[in-house]
Amino acid sequence: MLKKQTKGLSFLLALLLMMTLLSGCGGSQPAPAAPEAPAEAASPAETESEESADITTDVVIIGSGGAGLAAAIEAKDAGKEVIVVEQMPIIGGNTLRATGGLNAAGTSSQEAAGIEDDADTHYADTMKGGYELNDPALVRILADEASGAVEWLIELGADLSDVGRLGGSSNNRSHRPTGGAPVGAHLVEVLRTSAEDRGVDIRINTKAVEILKDGDNVIGIQVEDNSGASYQILADAVIVATGGFGANGDMFADYDAALTGFGSTNHPGADGVAILMAQAAGAALIDMEQIQTHPTVVPENGYMITEAVRGNGAILINRNGERFTNEIGTRDVVSEAMLAQEGATGFLFFDEGIRESLSAIEGYIRQGFVTEAGSLEEMAELMNMDAAVLTATVEAYNAAVASGNDEAFGRDDMPRSLETAGYYLIEVGPAVHHTMGGIHISPEAEVLDENGNPIPGLFAAGEVTGGVHGGNRLGGNALADLIVFGRIAGKSAAQ
Ligand SMILES: Cc1cc2nc3c(=O)[nH]c(=O)nc-3n(C[C@H](O)[C@H](O)[C@H](O)COP(=O)(O)OP(=O)(O)OC[C@H]3O[C@@H](n4cnc5c(N)ncnc54)[C@H](O)[C@@H]3O)c2cc1C
Repeated sequence: MLKKQTKGLSFLLALLLMMTLLSGCGGSQPAPAAPEAPAEAASPAETESEESADITTDVVIIGSGGAGLAAAIEAKDAGKEVIVVEQMPIIGGNTLRATGGLNAAGTSSQEAAGIEDDADTHYADTMKGGYELNDPALVRILADEASGAVEWLIELGADLSDVGRLGGSSNNRSHRPTGGAPVGAHLVEVLRTSAEDRGVDIRINTKAVEILKDGDNVIGIQVEDNSGASYQILADAVIVATGGFGANGDMFADYDAALTGFGSTNHPGADGVAILMAQAAGAALIDMEQIQTHPTVVPENGYMITEAVRGNGAILINRNGERFTNEIGTRDVVSEAMLAQEGATGFLFFDEGIRESLSAIEGYIRQGFVTEAGSLEEMAELMNMDAAVLTATVEAYNAAVASGNDEAFGRDDMPRSLETAGYYLIEVGPAVHHTMGGIHISPEAEVLDENGNPIPGLFAAGEVTGGVHGGNRLGGNALADLIVFGRIAGKSAAQ
């Protein structure tokens, strides 16, 4: 009875703690509606009362983002007992923040929309976007398995019926919920529910601090919860699904000094500490210096404006009201063009038609990021631009849409002209967004050592790994990566 009351009280305390941390999280991207803490999650007080007892399970997964949850579901479906540990007070990691879409070619959603696409084109776009630095074997799996990942998510209850295009893709293949709603929070909710329904034990506020080995074999992890309790979770297999290091300013500046002082779009848990932990357990790291900036981040608060705004037709203009780049070029190229503008920022510019095409924009308006005007002249006045220049820019772009030929910047996908008042503008600049490098894995998601041999019992998936995206990740490919390789890691670990 006493234990029951303690449990109820501690769950309330955990919720309160979670709300407090959420409101003052300090992360650059305000978190979207967070999934609730799972009813079975260990709260601080609960682990205090049951602290220090070591636990044994079949598979333990570090990280509750998309990769960790996808792996958990697959391992559970293969008949294994699964524990997921998450260092933050909420589930979801950076996956919770994903907005634009999940890339896959040859899906039922594309077919329903009459979009022709195939895995070979997805493969070619990904290799080209990554400057061919990608591991071809991993990219082949990504491209071949992504459509199966979408169908699997739909079977679990996801709505991925809206299909748009993000930079560097030849076809519309970025899947998201109806109306272009943000994809990440939706996927985390679907995955979390599916994992919980299967009885996966998800422990928030629980940080992995060491990967345990017996000789060459990985045998579990050492964890600490936020009450200070420390215990071991012994398991036949450990999956590292801890995301990247985009929130660790010192770490990304160490690998690329040009990024010193840059802001980040990442959640605070993207600290990269687990990458070093895996390295200490013998893992080889690859491509660590490949770090991506995202070009459209609100400078004052680091909030990322999804690439889908440009994908749905927005243009980028500078302080003079002129376009300066192919807006749907790869992120590195657009970021560089932006940094060359006065003030090292630019403006996303779009009209009512684009606003109506993407419901994510309503969130940006609610949060006060958007300058609105009823006419081009009014917008020019508000932004202290020359109205004639802004009007000429818009007219030239609309002519390019009509002819299908963007002579100025070679943009090949111009789905909408800019001719329906009102007009909207958001100031944006680059910030660190994705870390392409990380733990070296095999196509089976086994962690490889410096000699290219699998470390028995150790697996990894998602942004914590390197090799899939090469020198530059295409928008929409991270979600594909973490579901495809998260599922593979779960199945491999279960074996
Ligand atoms: C603002 C934003 C928008 C994005 N939009 C898109 C998009 O539209 N499409 C797309 O494809 N990609 C997008 N991305 C990229 C994508 O969201 C990430 O690459 C992806 O979510 C990473 O998933 P993951 O499961 O590997 O890691 P995460 O989702 O980051 O989860 C890792 C989890 O591990 C936890 N963790 C870390 N270390 C430990 C430890 N030692 N112990 C316990 N837990 C630990 C973290 O706290 C975190 O919760 C976006 C990223 C951001 C930041």
